[in-house]
Amino acid sequence: MTTVLDRFLRYVRYDTQSNEASTTYPSTATQLVLLGDLAAELRALGLADAAVDEFGYVTATIPATTNRPGVPTIGFIAHVDTSPEMPGAGVAPIVHRAYDGRDLVLPDDPTAILRLADNPALAAHIGHDIVTASGTTLLGADDKAGVAEIVTAAAYLVAHPEIAHGPVRLAFTPDEEVGRGTEHFDVARFGALCAYTLDGGSRGEIEIESFSADAMTVTFHGFNTHPGYAKGRMVNAIKIAAAFIDRLPRDSWSPETTDGHDGFVHPYVIQASVERTAVRLLVRDFSTTGLKDKEAELDRLARSAAADYPGSRVEIAVEESYRNMKAVLDRHPEIAEHAREAIRRAGLEPRTHAIRGGTDGCRLSFMGLPTPNLFAGEHNFHSRLEWVAVQDMEKAVEVIVHLCRIWEEKALG
Ligand SMILES: [Zn+2]
Repeated sequence: MTTVLDRFLRYVRYDTQSNEASTTYPSTATQLVLLGDLAAELRALGLADAAVDEFGYVTATIPATTNRPGVPTIGFIAHVDTSPEMPGAGVAPIVHRAYDGRDLVLPDDPTAILRLADNPALAAHIGHDIVTASGTTLLGADDKAGVAEIVTAAAYLVAHPEIAHGPVRLAFTPDEEVGRGTEHFDVARFGALCAYTLDGGSRGEIEIESFSADAMTVTFHGFNTHPGYAKGRMVNAIKIAAAFIDRLPRDSWSPETTDGHDGFVHPYVIQASVERTAVRLLVRDFSTTGLKDKEAELDRLARSAAADYPGSRVEIAVEESYRNMKAVLDRHPEIAEHAREAIRRAGLEPRTHAIRGGTDGCRLSFMGLPTPNLFAGEHNFHSRLEWVAVQDMEKAVEVIVHLCRIWEEKALG
């Protein structure tokens, strides 16, 4: 039988990098090659309805094997695209067998070295098999580990019809890394009570809490004129923006000074000219009221900066990015409880932690499909030093199979 590692090594060779600047859906046509091949692979496994829709989403159903009525449909979801921040073409995966704590030097760039000292998570993998890229690209374990785990679990369930489970829906999606993974996801047609994304880190982890996130654009309008004859007339929007950024908190509310459950404001792009300077900021907090407090403070600081420059004005726009999925998942505690039970049955200790970011599951949860995130074994996301342990991928496959059983056992039939 094809192993999860075989599949993983095959999928990472596809270039599926997504592109933020693209206006098409999916953002890159190359993603459709893997999506099409996944649909064909699922059909070959016996999932007759496996298909790619007009947007590139692959869905398929593992038919129920249980005789009990009332067993709900559950889903498993992973994304095929890789981060635009790091090359994703020409990935040459390397399996480092029986890791013993040594430095893993990646051959295509000898400065790319995966060291135990810099990666404490590696300590749990002595004796395991570690997969990396070759030094010049990302690996794509984010999220092809999740894809390989779901397909392998599906193959296992198809080969073991004696395992009682309800209907199981699968979806593979494009464009998660550019924040558009759920743009055309048809929750009603997917038809599941809940789903699990397999797109997380270390073994045993389950993520049921995420940031609530907005994006803010603060645009300062000045007045430009010939600098030789500007006295008393020029208003430099670049200087107003600098005054605004200088007012931002330094010891708190910053990505570089917060962790755990503290949120932040984060200027990350500036488009600058004398006439007009726009500052883009990320705003993050675990609560929506905390998010609104941060936005009110940014608004106040921007206006106070502009007030020091007569003749200027400021425009502020806020766009919602995503919301903390906990608000939805708290209303359906069995979704996380069953996942913890599945992790225990796989011989692992379940560990719940808050994501200092978002996942497709945040948006899906608010679209009517409650979707926590489970570990897939990914480490060093979006990096040349990305790695995954084969034994973690095998555990994730077990967790998926256990989850299907548990939802059947616990159903009120
Ligand atoms: Zn991911």
